[in-house]
Amino acid sequence: MAEGDTILRLARRLDRSLGGQRVSARTPGRRRPDGMPASELDSRRLERAESRGKHLLLHFEDRLVLHNHMGMRGSWQLYRAGDRWRRPASQAWIALAGNGAEAVNFGGSSMRIVTEAQLPRDPRLARLGPDILGEDFEPAAVIARMRGTNPQIELGAALLGQRLVAGIGNIFKSEGCFEAGIDPTRRLESLDDEELADVLSATRGLMLEAVETGRQPGSVYRRAGRPCPRCGTAISSRAQGDSARISYWCPRCQPSASG
Ligand SMILES: [Zn+2]
Repeated sequence: MAEGDTILRLARRLDRSLGGQRVSARTPGRRRPDGMPASELDSRRLERAESRGKHLLLHFEDRLVLHNHMGMRGSWQLYRAGDRWRRPASQAWIALAGNGAEAVNFGGSSMRIVTEAQLPRDPRLARLGPDILGEDFEPAAVIARMRGTNPQIELGAALLGQRLVAGIGNIFKSEGCFEAGIDPTRRLESLDDEELADVLSATRGLMLEAVETGRQPGSVYRRAGRPCPRCGTAISSRAQGDSARISYWCPRCQPSASG
């Protein structure tokens, strides 16, 4: 699943290629966006592309917004106008073209076209915690939310849930905890504010690096049983939280609360 770094990187690319342009909007495939028809965006100017957690928001003139969540399998592909797409047009959800560039969305879990006024009423956006990649991100705001929730929740699940902090997915949950040297299976109640701030800062740092380079770290993610790159201990893994997503960690570099 695309995490916040991928969405922010995408938003920047869309800004560079289509930002400030009047675009043509069409729906070449079988799916249609929810809300208003895509023709509402046609010939309107794309003012800016925004990432908010794992959500992509394309703000158009006249206060219209294309709100997209890519889910597990969605993608946006950028082409020069006239280039052949790598996937069949029948699978495309929306195509935006302007200034010799074309951005095409395939798959994804949701796409809707709404007004700016309708946007905050979307429950998925309304419940998001602070964006880990937000320019004004402050760990203290997330820590305050963490202290207000169930103290038995495990750190890995808290980082992934989007309600306490938005934008972190399965890769950066594990990699951020490894970078900070903190076991993701510890419960929130066992972590002091400094440890929580360390995890948030480390995760944000790794994600900002990935925004610049396009490469995600791979110290522990999907490396269960293989040696830790720092100490050689076999990496542990376990499912966490309601969604049972797997976390990976080094039991030596990231000691448990008791040990
Ligand atoms: Zn280690």
